[in-house]
Amino acid sequence: MNDLETQVSAGWSRMSSMLVREGRPQELPETGEFVNVPVTRGSTVLFPTLEAMNRTDGRSHAHKLVYGAMGSPIQHQLEEMLSVIEGGTHTQVVNSGLAACTMPLLAFLGCGDHLLLPDSVYGPTRRFAGTMLHRLGVMTTYYPPMASRAEMMTLVRPETKIVFSESPGSHTFEVQDVPMLAEVAHEAGALLMLDNTWGIGVFQPFVHGVDVSIQALTKYPAGHSDVIMGSVTVNDEAHWKTLRDAAIQLGQCAGPDDCWLTLRGLRTMGVRLAHQSRSALEIAQWLKTRPEVARVLHPAFEDCPGHAFWKRDFTGACGLFGVELQPQISVEATERMIDGLSLFGIGASWGGYESLVLPTTGHIRRVTGEGGPTSATFRLHIGLEDVSDLKNDLACGLDSLRF
Ligand SMILES: *Cc1c(COP(=O)(O)O)cnc(C)c1O
Repeated sequence: MNDLETQVSAGWSRMSSMLVREGRPQELPETGEFVNVPVTRGSTVLFPTLEAMNRTDGRSHAHKLVYGAMGSPIQHQLEEMLSVIEGGTHTQVVNSGLAACTMPLLAFLGCGDHLLLPDSVYGPTRRFAGTMLHRLGVMTTYYPPMASRAEMMTLVRPETKIVFSESPGSHTFEVQDVPMLAEVAHEAGALLMLDNTWGIGVFQPFVHGVDVSIQALTKYPAGHSDVIMGSVTVNDEAHWKTLRDAAIQLGQCAGPDDCWLTLRGLRTMGVRLAHQSRSALEIAQWLKTRPEVARVLHPAFEDCPGHAFWKRDFTGACGLFGVELQPQISVEATERMIDGLSLFGIGASWGGYESLVLPTTGHIRRVTGEGGPTSATFRLHIGLEDVSDLKNDLACGLDSLRF
């Protein structure tokens, strides 16, 4: 393996032992135990007496299991495992990745507060800030994802309660200087919230100063395009209390079967990602040599914005990256090329075992008007198919552009 191959895959390989060991029975009874946590479905929890039902043992009521909406044994097992992966102390599982973005914003923001969102943020998070949060009296300012410390300092206000980060950015792949954002947020008395979906396991959020870390478990953790789920992890008791109370009030939980599928997906996430990251790198490097391609937006490449931060802070890259075509190639021709691919499915989301493609041009709605691709761009997710099959499929598509 060359240096770059090691850099994109080392973190995934290293986490495999933990992914196999955590989140399942550790102390085995004499009578034996199955390898996996059983699925327990339930709404009502029965107690022998009212006194037993009402006893909280010093904990807040929100932390006691008195009803299925507060979680099930398998949900809590999954939450413990996610805390280990993210390096935090407490995790709340919610019913989608988007809910994992919106729920903590609702938990930590109130009327009159100010939110800083990167201009590269996941589209539905942007929509939530512009509609519901706006209606509730929260003001949002967009900042360029590559903003310097000095620029960030001019944007924070006394009312700033949350600095939000997503690294790398959805569709445009800018890797952010998260430790700097944490310092700026903390100096302003705000929290740093990170959508860490791309970097699960290879970016340790709390080491770099993040206060609230978000995962769309729908992606690599579930890994098989059959679950919608999200999680929010914190590393502080006070933050946990706020987050957990909000989750209870909003009725957030996840079905036991989905938790089971996600736990099952996590067992193989290390090997899937070690493989997919190397395949993605190989395809990205090959795409760089094609005349139709202007730029490959992959954090492992020097011309990807924030590459130096990726090199400094990450121990791997996943299988999702962007491709920017030459300016002479029209959006229409790009769309025809995408329609003609046979191994790349056209569809939302990513992180499963199958390869996907999506044009990104329509997703780049920049408020700050800085950086980002200017010509036709598409996003690739590299799955577990054979790399040469995937390259052949893309080669046919690029040839059809008659560039
Ligand atoms: C997919 C995604 C989400 C939302 O996850 P869903 O489970 O599809 O709701 C949030 N953030 C990022 C960065 C994502 O890629």
